[in-house]
Amino acid sequence: MNINVAQIRRDENGTAHFDLKEDFSAFESELEGVDFVAPVHVQLQVNNTGKSLVVNGSIETEIKAQCGCCLEPFHYQIHQDYEDEWVFAPQATEEQLETALIFHKDEIELTEHILEQIVLALPMRFICSSECKGLCPVCGANLNVKSCECIQDNIDPRFAALANWSRED
Ligand SMILES: [Zn+2]
Ligand SMILES: [Zn+2]
Repeated sequence: MNINVAQIRRDENGTAHFDLKEDFSAFESELEGVDFVAPVHVQLQVNNTGKSLVVNGSIETEIKAQCGCCLEPFHYQIHQDYEDEWVFAPQATEEQLETALIFHKDEIELTEHILEQIVLALPMRFICSSECKGLCPVCGANLNVKSCECIQDNIDPRFAALANWSRED
């Protein structure tokens, strides 16, 4: 996935828009547990401030993930907005070399950067729904689809508070 900034780079105070869509399934091996079920849609607004290109990006895609509670696969929508500062290498100040993304050619390859943003958009733990009942700790039944007869309340009272706390998690 790449864009060409030849024009906007020379257009001081100008704005450019890019709308990109690409199948990222080739990069699944770089993202643990991510299985793309839709193309990655990236929209960029690039503003040339005279000192750098300020980029407002928006990433949308959908992946198949596994619920950390009931272990069932489900579709998870990713929507990540981000802002970047890009500077053409010969014009970069000392400070920009530290903080901005430096580009050397008019053609900018975005894939690695988009993958990083997708990683930032992933939750610590996937949960299929706030109503997910999870698995029975005794028989392993998925309590979203069936109930079981297991007795689950023989918990040492000293741990009951902890159990209640984790159930609300
Ligand atoms: Zn679940
Ligand atoms: Zn059970």
